[in-house]
Formats: sequence, structure tokens, C-alpha cells
Amino acid sequence: MALSAGPEKQVGKLVIRNIGLLLTGDLGAPLLDADTIVAEGGRITAIGRAADCDLSEAHVTVDAQGCALSPGLIDSHVHPVFGDWSPRQGQLGWIESSLHGGVTTMISAGEVHLPGRPRDIVGLKALAITAQRSFANFRPAGVKVLAGAPLIEQGMVESDFAELAAAGVGLLGEVGLGSVKAGYEAKEMVAWARKYGIQSTIHTGGPSVPGSGYIDADTVLEADADIIGHINGGHTALPLRQIRCLCEGCLRGIEIVHNGNELAGLTALRYAAELNQLPRVILGTDGPAGSGAQPLGILRTIALLSSLGDMPAETIFCCATGNTARMRKLDCGLIEIGRAADFMLMDRAQHSSGSDLLDSVRKGDLPGVGMVVIDGIVRCGRSRNTPPAERIPVIV
Ligand SMILES: [Zn+2]
Repeated sequence: MALSAGPEKQVGKLVIRNIGLLLTGDLGAPLLDADTIVAEGGRITAIGRAADCDLSEAHVTVDAQGCALSPGLIDSHVHPVFGDWSPRQGQLGWIESSLHGGVTTMISAGEVHLPGRPRDIVGLKALAITAQRSFANFRPAGVKVLAGAPLIEQGMVESDFAELAAAGVGLLGEVGLGSVKAGYEAKEMVAWARKYGIQSTIHTGGPSVPGSGYIDADTVLEADADIIGHINGGHTALPLRQIRCLCEGCLRGIEIVHNGNELAGLTALRYAAELNQLPRVILGTDGPAGSGAQPLGILRTIALLSSLGDMPAETIFCCATGNTARMRKLDCGLIEIGRAADFMLMDRAQHSSGSDLLDSVRKGDLPGVGMVVIDGIVRCGRSRNTPPAERIPVIV
């Protein structure tokens, strides 16, 4: 699979038929009784039974061979730099590898690993604008990387946020990785960002790398960022009673990451379920990290939360798709007419003890990815990273 240059346009019509199980990404109705999806112009144009859809004059027809289809996975928390390279572990190709783990959209929580990252205000703004432009113009393997997430520093004023927004920056990097660590300081800047339409995420828990800080629940609640970034720590987690406070004390995104504390992640999920707050639960990897880049990080987190968290797999798939799309106001993540045609097709891994795909994930196994589609374009066939699926879709 070659790296693709930029956002490509789908040519003609894509038909995917013979879908065995349709996961919608919508917690309210995570499974849909349909076996066919049609996409044109990169958007979903029809969903239903084959007999009810217009399948004529398709440019590409995929026979799903009974595989399951889900919205493409959204990684709510990554730390990209430029291109498909990360200096964190000297890694090349980590984004393309993640496509093979079903990820179709990644959201930057700050280009924090850039060697010599500027910390002066003009420099950090320039970096954010450059990173936003760079990833808007270049999609590694077709993956949508929403980047250009400045790490805020003391001394920034309201006009800095207005300027960033006007330049196309739509995200703040993790609050707390720069010099702004106190709740009252973060609160003012987060509010300025929100005023100009910029989403925010705050680091939660102990320091992640030397030089970063400790952010407790009181600070997170005072700052009031849109997303409680890695509520399960990155990797050091807050005491569980503080995680409970975060679930109870606000309505912001509850982000559970692969590179976090697993016990804290499972506990956050349980608290959210008890409080009827599952729509707020979203998933990320926080990669590349000290533990490396994990192309299957979102799938592994889904399997962890479903199996040890004792939750239906289809519920947890929503946390990695529709929940994130809604919390982050994205046009993907749900199987709905008009949404971006970003899909992952998968089946039970060969020799899983689970009785079907959903049962296999519930038993802690990873699914086998058989095809990934972004904007209506097939980006890869059988994953080179997941265990092999029993069935794989074919282009007919
Ligand atoms: Zn962090």
C-alpha cells in the first residue's frame, strides 16, 4: 500500500454487499439489520437490504463474504509529528500500520515529540498552523490525521486563540504539557479556545515523560476542557476516587487510552456505565509513546474493555467510533446517510474460541481486519497486522 498524496476523491459508486453484521457506531442502536451499503462522492448514500438499494453501475463492488462492517475506528489521542514518521521511538510508517488496525481517523493531542519543539508563542502558533496544513495536504495511506494542536504556554492572550482559529487550527494539544498547569490559568485559555471554536483536551494524571506535570481531578474540573484526556493516566493514573469525581462532576469526554493504566481504564468504564454516561466514553492510544506505537491499540482497548469490563463488544465499538464523532463533531464514525464512507470490515480471527465476531471480542480476542475503506476508497485488504480473519471481503 503506497502512501497517498492528499485527500483523493472517490470515483463513481462503491457498493458493499453481503455484510453479515452491521455495527452502526450508535450506542442507541449498535446493530442494524442491513447487508448493503452504497457510497458516492466519499459519503454514504444508501444503507439497507440489497433488494432495497440501487446497486447498478457500481464502479467498485465489494462482496463482504458475510464479514462484519463497522465505521472506521477513530483514535482520539495521538501525538504525530510530520508525515508518517515519529521520533518517539524512531518509528516510520506507524500511521499506515494503524490503518491495518482499522483506524481511519486520528486526532492529535499535540505535536509534542517534534525535536526542538518551539515553546515561544509565535513559534508554537507557527508549528500548529504548519502541522494542520501538512496533515490536511498529506494523508498517510489515506488516514485522516487531524493535527495542528498547539501546546499552550503562559503569556498567551485571547487574540492568539482568535488568530489560531482564523488560520484553521481547530484543536488544542493536551493542556498541561506546556507551562500552563494551574486550573485557573488553563480555564481562561480553554474558554478562549472554545469561544473561537477550538476543541481542547487536558492531560490527566501523573507526568508522562520527564518535564511534564501532574494534573489532578480538581484541576481538570476547573480547566473544563472538552475532553478529559487519558482519564486512565498516561501511564500514571489518578486515585480511583478522583476518576469517579471526573465522571460525576462534569459532562466532558471520558477518554480511555491504550497507553494508560488498564485498571483505571476499566474502572472509568464501570463508573461511566453506572452513571449512565457511556456516550461520553471515547478511546485513544496516546501513541507513539514510551511503550511504542501500537497499530492495534484501539482494537486491543476494545477487546480489553469488552472482555474484562464485561460489556457487549458492539457497545465498546461505539466508544471508538460514534461516541468520538459526536463528542468531537466529526462527519464520520456512524453508519448514517451523508456521513463519510469510512469503514472497517472484519471477522472472527481464525481459531478464536468465540462463537462469532462479537463473542470472540467479548472473550478478549482481537478481530481479523479484512478491508479498510476511507472516503469510499478501498485502502487495504487483509490486514498485515491483525490475526487472520476467517473470511475476508473480495472486490468482484
Ligand atoms: Zn498526556
